Formats: sequence, C-alpha cells, structure tokens
Amino acid sequence: MEQWQYQMQNFVNTIDKLEKFINITQEEREAIASTNTKWGTTPYFAGLMDRDDPNCPIRKQVIPSPREKVNRYGIENYLIYKENRSNEEKRPDTIARQYHDRIAFTVMNICANYCRHCFRKELVVDESLHFNFNVDEGLAWIREHNEIRDVLITGGDPLLLANDKLEYIISKLRDIPHIEMIRFGSRVPIVLPHRITDGLLKVLGGFHKVPIWLNTQCNHAKEITEQTAEAVYKLMTAGVNVGNQAVLLKGINDDKKSFKELHQKLLTVRIRPYYVFYCEPAPGIDHFRTPVEKGAELIRDCLRGHTTGLAQPMYVMATNIGKIPLMPDYYIMDKNEEEYTLKNYKGQITKIPNIPE
Ligand SMILES: *Cc1c(COP(=O)(O)O)cnc(C)c1O
Ligand code: SF4
Repeated sequence: MEQWQYQMQNFVNTIDKLEKFINITQEEREAIASTNTKWGTTPYFAGLMDRDDPNCPIRKQVIPSPREKVNRYGIENYLIYKENRSNEEKRPDTIARQYHDRIAFTVMNICANYCRHCFRKELVVDESLHFNFNVDEGLAWIREHNEIRDVLITGGDPLLLANDKLEYIISKLRDIPHIEMIRFGSRVPIVLPHRITDGLLKVLGGFHKVPIWLNTQCNHAKEITEQTAEAVYKLMTAGVNVGNQAVLLKGINDDKKSFKELHQKLLTVRIRPYYVFYCEPAPGIDHFRTPVEKGAELIRDCLRGHTTGLAQPMYVMATNIGKIPLMPDYYIMDKNEEEYTLKNYKGQITKIPNIPE
C-alpha cells in the first residue's frame, strides 16, 4: 500500500481517532456527536493541529462547530443556484458553466479533508445533493462544445481518483482539438502531499501541447510544511504550475499577521497566490464570513507595497454570474484635465500628468 492510501484508510473521522491528536473540548465533542455531515481529515493534517488550542486555524477548518446548525444568511440549494443548474441550457451534472470559454468539470465528491467552510458542502459534506458523476457524459458534452478551451477538473478532490482514471480523463481531453489547457483544483498538496507519487507525476507531467495547471487551497501558514514544499517542487519539475486559492475565513486568516504570513510563506514553497475568495453564502457557514470589504482592506493594509508583488492574490467573490474582483480602489485620489493624484501604500501622495487621448 502507498503512503497516501494508508493516510486515507486511517482517516481521522471519529472522536477516538481525533483524541490521539488533540485534547477535544466539550463543545467540539458535542458538535461531532450531533453532526449528520461528513467530517474528518488525514492523520498527516490532524498532526498539524494544536493539541490544546481550540482556536487553532486547522482545528477550525476540520472539526464541526455547533454554529453550523445556525443558518441565518446562507442560501438554501446554494450550489444549484450558484452554478446556474436550474435555469439555463441542460447540461450533465458534471459540467458547471459560468463563462463562454471554460467550465468546471466536477468528477467526484470525496475529499482528503472535509473543510467546514466548503461552498460545495451540500454535495460534499452534507450530501443532501446527489450528482451523477458520469465522466464520459461530461467528456461528450465538452467534445460537442467547441467554444470550450479550458477545463477545470474539480470535485471533491479529483486527485483522489486512481492514476488510471486520471490518465483516462486527461488523454480524452487532450484528444479534443479545441481544448488548450487543463486545470485541477485540489487540496491534496496541502492535506495529503503523499499523493504526489512518481506514478501520479507520470500521469500529470511531461511536455505536452495541452499543459496542466493546478490550484490548491491553503488558508493559513500553519498548513505549509516541508512535505508540501517537496510535493510542489516535484509537480513543478514535472511541468505542472501550482497556484493557491485561499478562502477569507473569520477568526482564521482575517487578521493582518495571518494574512501576510500566509501569502509570504506560500512563495517560500513555490506556490503562487492566485485568488482569495470571499467566503460564499452556502448554508450553515455564516460564522466563517467577514464583511465583504475585509479582503480588499487586508490586501491594502498588509500586502500591496508591504511585501513582494508575487505574494498578491486577486480578491474575488464567486457568484452565480461569475467571479467578481473586489480589489482595493483607494489609489486614485483625484483626476483633472492636467493630472492624476495618486496615493501609495504608506499614504504618500504623488502626481502624474493626465495625457489627453
Ligand atoms: C471558478 C470557475 C472557473 C474558472 O475561473 P477563472 O477565473 O478562469 O479561474 C470556471 N468555471 C466555473 C464554473 C467556475 O466556478
Ligand atoms: S477540499 Fe474543496 S471540495 Fe473538499 S471539502 Fe474542502 S473546500 Fe470542499
């Protein structure tokens, strides 16, 4: 058995197993006992939890909370609404479409960590939504739609599929003349870096006309280890670029120190920050959400100008009409016929001439 399979077989999803890693609080114990959702993580990721601090950013992403039963602001049937599944052209369950030239291809609903803040929770965590994961049906749809040039393979976590299944999907996509690139969304480099095996690298790697890009999800510097660094290095050596899509989470990364550290540390393991998402209004995750402006303020107050330009993600809200950028727009102070007045990250002011068109 390979290490990653051992990790999945010893998944930490009972109180007894969790107790080996942390001192469980009464509140956590009750929330676990009363949840009717999927929860749990790999022994590797559980090993990164703080034994005694219930506010540990990893604990909060993994262990159910009593607050999940409160749903004041979340939208019921969120995924159906958000992915336009009820009101547009008929598509297979596996295909989510918001754009003309690219789609999300949802191939399974198993994960190596059941994130409490998951926006696909109805499909993945609550299992109240059932999809038919017929990959061939999805491939046939993609083949018939020659405007699609970019396929984002997602889940669940698609890298938990067996190597031969992944090879099948990738080679079928590469056979479609209008497909120019393939992307994976996977938390595996963070929660199960052992999955980046030589066998998987053979499937994902190599010099091909249709490249593979990967975006992972890391929300706190504490999630980044030497093992993640090695997994990312191997992916890049094989030709796979690795980016990050973080979620802005209240009490986890919505303070300046955590937010800055996260983005700096990602670069030290060669992961390029791509997006930070506003936490979406799926049901039962109100307690993770900040005001919308928060992400833009954090970029203004601790990233832009304050640290390496490569550490800057784009802050976006993923909506039913696509992703909407919410970048800070505090830089142009004034504009007249002669000049622009601009402000930098320190509040200093400068002027540049306004050149008429
Ligand atoms: C996020 C998403 C994409 C990819 O968006 P990019 O901004 O290109 O990364 C494509 N399709 C759907 C349905 C998505 O949700
Ligand atoms: S890995 Fe992704 S799909 Fe799976 S639970 Fe976490 S956020 Fe949801």
